[in-house]
Amino acid sequence: MKKLSLVVPCFNEQESIPLFYPAVQKVLATMPEVKPEYWFVDDGSKDGTLSELKKLHEQDQAVHYISFSRNFGKEAAIYAGLSAATGDYVALMDVDLQDPPDLLPKMYEILQTGEYDAVGCRRVDRKGEGKVKSFLSNQFYKVINRVSKVEIVPGARDYRMMTRQMVNAVLAMKEYSRFSKGIFAWVGFKTKYLEYHNIERVAGKTNWTTLKLFKYAMNGIADFSQAPLNLAVWIGTTSFILSIIGLIFVIIRKLIEPSSSILGWASTISIILLIGGLQLLCIGIIGRYIGKIYLQVKERPLYLVKEKK
Ligand code: UDP
Ligand code: MG
Repeated sequence: MKKLSLVVPCFNEQESIPLFYPAVQKVLATMPEVKPEYWFVDDGSKDGTLSELKKLHEQDQAVHYISFSRNFGKEAAIYAGLSAATGDYVALMDVDLQDPPDLLPKMYEILQTGEYDAVGCRRVDRKGEGKVKSFLSNQFYKVINRVSKVEIVPGARDYRMMTRQMVNAVLAMKEYSRFSKGIFAWVGFKTKYLEYHNIERVAGKTNWTTLKLFKYAMNGIADFSQAPLNLAVWIGTTSFILSIIGLIFVIIRKLIEPSSSILGWASTISIILLIGGLQLLCIGIIGRYIGKIYLQVKERPLYLVKEKK
């Protein structure tokens, strides 16, 4: 009998957990060929999430939980859950039922054929989501796929089922700044994507503001692409070439018309400001990468566990 681990990050989800568990149990009942194991990760919740998880643990031996000492973010929670999971197959899903459990049997079936190493899910629409958020998300996929070598499928959620082999590959990626969408693509293996329509949260509210998502996207780009650094090189090269052309122009004009007076104070200041701005931009880009190196070399743990059962 194969074991299927379900890794579920939870942050302030006291209302979702009691709805999630029975919904998944119902689906698992249709899969008698698998032995399930739950790994809930309480990512430093401030509400009753942990006590809900304790209740489930008392009730069902297959339910385990890890509770962090504080909020470390979903990426850390994913890593902790994947590390703890012992299954032959591991599924990663959100607790808010936005990742439909009904897809689990299909995912499992596809992996059973041995043709694929992972089955992911992608939303084909973004019904119920703000216009600005949708627009920015779509732009993000366009940009990251252009500037980075890894191919990130638009609309793909973290919801997926993987083989043990692929999980081990994901765990072997020791980067501090983790961007799962990129990591799943980077490790390779064959992934099949199932499509479904967006579903809204059952309870609670999303922890992602548009600004938080924007920062997350920027980090993802810096984690999986060096294009911003090349941008700095291009800006530098272009302004250097333009300044040479300008210099030649000034010299020639002086030779042809020696009495030409010094005009153009405003334009000079504008150019100084422009160059200064570009320099700061480039330093900023380089700074972002140095910040990442700084965090990586400190080798701080990704998360701290307060309780695990
Ligand atoms: N989550 C987490 N840590 C955080 C934020 C979120 O573990 O710091 C969990 C959350 O409980 C949920 C999943 O990550 O199970 C997705 O979060 P959310 O529903 O807020 O994101 P969205 O579905 O809007 O992308
Ligand atoms: Mg959600």
